[in-house]
Amino acid sequence: MSQVADKINKLLNEIPPHVKLIPISKTKPENTILEAYNSGFKIFGENKVQELARKHESLPGDIEWHMVGHLQSNKVKYLAPFIHLLHGIDSFKLLKVVNKEGEKIGRVINVLLQLHIATEETKFGLSEEEVFQIFDSEEFKLLENVKVIGVMGMATYTSDEGLIRKEFKGLSRFYEKIKSEYFIDNKDFKEISMGMSSDYKIAIEEGSTMIRIGSLIFGSRI
Ligand SMILES: *Cc1c(COP(=O)(O)O)cnc(C)c1O
Repeated sequence: MSQVADKINKLLNEIPPHVKLIPISKTKPENTILEAYNSGFKIFGENKVQELARKHESLPGDIEWHMVGHLQSNKVKYLAPFIHLLHGIDSFKLLKVVNKEGEKIGRVINVLLQLHIATEETKFGLSEEEVFQIFDSEEFKLLENVKVIGVMGMATYTSDEGLIRKEFKGLSRFYEKIKSEYFIDNKDFKEISMGMSSDYKIAIEEGSTMIRIGSLIFGSRI
């Protein structure tokens, strides 16, 4: 078994069954992904559109691809035909573009709304207020080719575990609030994508349902 497959197996044995592992293969070559694929892993995430589209083209068609990075509106069309889940929807405008691209090809595209939970200025994401504005709008109700199945967030890059935990806790609480106000009878709204190599354990303790793990599986990216 390849080293990558070994790392994935180890993680799968460690995390609870309700948590989905998304190996983040960004910057890693196709043959590395293929090794893991040949050991039975069919879920991978990337954070750049071109790279994701290229890998989708050259790797087996039954891989479930996740886009976890910031997404520009004009590039949605390259992912719309095949993407399994877009984690980084960070504006209403982008959500509407995804809907439009889905409409063009007759697909309902699964998305997560990315919340700005970090204290850092640099991270992308919606505020809680903006999320309420989206769900309260008449426009949102008309979007038939996009399905919001949960939320996503990235904690501050820090060694302060207390801060990380507080940010993840905040996202979980917000998810529950949104669920009870807008998705009470909707079983599809069930995902909280939070946790990376350095903080996934805290994320799981705070309610994560999807962890996005890169370097811990594939090694450092430098
Ligand atoms: C790269 C990346 C990850 C994985 O990061 P690691 O620290 O290598 O596990 C997770 N989420 C997003 C959005 C990323 O860009």
